[in-house]
Amino acid sequence: MKQARLALLLLVGLISPISEGASVTVQNLRMWEAPDNTRLVFDLSGPLEHRLFTLREPDRIVIDMDNARLLGTLPDLDFSGPRLAAVRTGSQGDQQLRVVLDLKRATRPRTFVLKPYGQYGHRLVIDLYDPDTITSPSAAPALTSRPKRRDMVVAIDAGHGGEDPGAIGRRYRTKEKHVTLAIARELARLVDAAPNMRALLIRDGDYYVDLHERFVKARRHEADVFISIHADALPGRSSSARGASVYALSERGASSVLARMVADKENASDLIGGVSLNDKDDLLAKVLLDLSQTATISSSVTLGSDMLVELARIGPIHLESVQQAGFAVLKAPDVPSVLVETAFISNAAEEKRLRSKSFQQKLAGALFSGVQRYLRRRPPPSTKPQDVAEGGTRVYVVQPGDTLAGIARAYGIHEDALRFANDLPDSVLQVGRKLVLPR
Ligand SMILES: [Zn+2]
Repeated sequence: MKQARLALLLLVGLISPISEGASVTVQNLRMWEAPDNTRLVFDLSGPLEHRLFTLREPDRIVIDMDNARLLGTLPDLDFSGPRLAAVRTGSQGDQQLRVVLDLKRATRPRTFVLKPYGQYGHRLVIDLYDPDTITSPSAAPALTSRPKRRDMVVAIDAGHGGEDPGAIGRRYRTKEKHVTLAIARELARLVDAAPNMRALLIRDGDYYVDLHERFVKARRHEADVFISIHADALPGRSSSARGASVYALSERGASSVLARMVADKENASDLIGGVSLNDKDDLLAKVLLDLSQTATISSSVTLGSDMLVELARIGPIHLESVQQAGFAVLKAPDVPSVLVETAFISNAAEEKRLRSKSFQQKLAGALFSGVQRYLRRRPPPSTKPQDVAEGGTRVYVVQPGDTLAGIARAYGIHEDALRFANDLPDSVLQVGRKLVLPR
């Protein structure tokens, strides 16, 4: 009897979740599937106190929200993913909303709240990680010696994703996150089709990856270059702004006011998509002190210039030189990294182009040529596809665009030693010629 009454109370709670005095309303629930986690975002009318606990047999997660009620019903979600089976709600007592997540398998939940930012209000984020996949800064490998011969790895980062749509076009309401992923996939296709090159897609679906995790992932896979793909936006009367821009990290200060603005806009992604619980500031402080950063930034600017040359072939350029500012996503200490604003999504004509497959392919082609151009000029140590061993001697086959000084620098050999070993009268190189690389 007592049990029946309890069930009845619960049922009443379910039927009329609106209780007097509850101050926070849960307005919506959104869900995104990433390869190693499922993210749930509750949109709230105000700041929320909550508790989360896990239960076994069957696996489920309970979230109690104080002083909260559900507005209407939860939207239909797609439960075909590997972790979540169902979401149920009920009112506990007068002013508590209970949400139960029925799981398909055990997960490690991570929860945090986000304050309003831009068009977004208060949010409660619950990430369901597969056990043992939570990464921390210490999980990033130290600089290890790379295997002698391997493919060059191109990390391709599609900007934004999941609950962070990025900029939104005014004419067609195009979301930046969809455009960036489409271009990223085209670029990955080109990279994977090239000999001795391999693409690493930082995200390959509609979910958010925090900015710090993006470059950590690139480092984990020993990426040789990192390309973050975006679409630009300027508000209001600046809607005629057009063309591509390329950005690199600056150690201090921004090279222009616009560079600072763009950096602030792109860094805000973490305010929309969520913050890592890792103490990233500590790591970044250390990273920024790293001497290798200076060399990496110089390489990043070179990579950016190579991209601009190629981008200029297919469309207008917004800023002629590589701009520098404090982009969180570009802070890998040892991977040359650029952020490419491919075109202005806030410009109706460019928004239309960004939506078209043919322009996406053109952009990907330009970025690919830019990467190739850069990797020819500055082949990363011990990744050179042309570095063939012949009877124990290292040999390098001259590529178009190579200079004697560039090859010497890449292999850590004095230019004169290289010239002497190959009996070269001057610095003129013939494409296809094999050069002996002295120890
Ligand atoms: Zn962006």
